[in-house]
Amino acid sequence: MGRELAITGHTELIGLVATPIRHSMSPQMHNAAFDALGLDYVYLVFEVGKEELKDTVAGLKAMKVRGWNVSMPNKGDIGQYLDHVSLVSELCGAINTVVNDDGVLTGTSTDGTGFVRALKENGLDIKGKKLVLLGAGGAAAAIMAQCAIDGAREIVVFNKKDAFYAKAQERIKLIEEKTGVEMHLYDIDDKALLKQEIDSADVLANATSVGMVPHQDSCLVEESDLHEGLYVFDCVYNPKDTLLLQRAKKVGAIPVSGVYMLLYQGAESFKLWTGKEMPIDIARKAIG
Ligand code: NAD
Repeated sequence: MGRELAITGHTELIGLVATPIRHSMSPQMHNAAFDALGLDYVYLVFEVGKEELKDTVAGLKAMKVRGWNVSMPNKGDIGQYLDHVSLVSELCGAINTVVNDDGVLTGTSTDGTGFVRALKENGLDIKGKKLVLLGAGGAAAAIMAQCAIDGAREIVVFNKKDAFYAKAQERIKLIEEKTGVEMHLYDIDDKALLKQEIDSADVLANATSVGMVPHQDSCLVEESDLHEGLYVFDCVYNPKDTLLLQRAKKVGAIPVSGVYMLLYQGAESFKLWTGKEMPIDIARKAIG
């Protein structure tokens, strides 16, 4: 879709600072949404790594840029250059959105709100619910932090005994202390325990990269681990119809695609910058 508005002296910039980042679908999503609402903004990506991050933040602030997204490798580092960091970012240790209010920079993470809203749009409020979460990396941290803030009853995390596992122990302790939510961390190789925890869960979410191309034939749970009425969320959005979602459909569980987490995290950032609701159907079409 081409831009309807001419770029003029009034056009405002929104950026994305990360590397590598040329593959991102965020420009298509945000520019289509700006265009649909007649908002005179343009969204561009900038290949910025850790070494240039401090100067980039100072430059964007000096240029009075309204806001920007942040992705790897900068999500964990950018907080030190900002004035405020939200509770969810404090808990998940990452920032994906910065808002510039007249020179005051605030960082937050919208990945978790994207997850919670995707569930809500499919009929489930996370408040009072039990979540079983596969993975303890960046996406999982944002999800556990936001679900804890939003009043989930219990969050059970399963991960491999890799480097993420030890870090997750500390993160879970912090989230428990700050929110009072009951949380547990277990080894994902304990398949009997995994099945038992899923049996009493309202939501199962995969926040590992398992199932993503080129490993789309892999899945961490069997069909027999799932049950009717369970919400099965796959953060993986490439492919859109993952093996996990296919298994969910077969047993009458409710599949929720990571495409919607991607859209709703974008929508939350969009609202923080513009004060407007992102037109989801248009943004959805723009990312294909
Ligand atoms: P990450 O590298 O921070 O974490 C990877 C996680 O996967 C870790 O917990 C790791 O232990 C686990 N893992 C890796 N290989 C595994 C295996 N073979 N078996 C079991 N666990 C394994 O990555 P991330 O940024 O958290 O991303 C994870 C996935 O979520 C990716 O597929 C990414 O595309 C997706 N994601 C989606 C959205 C969205 O908006 N839908 C947002 C962020 C991430």
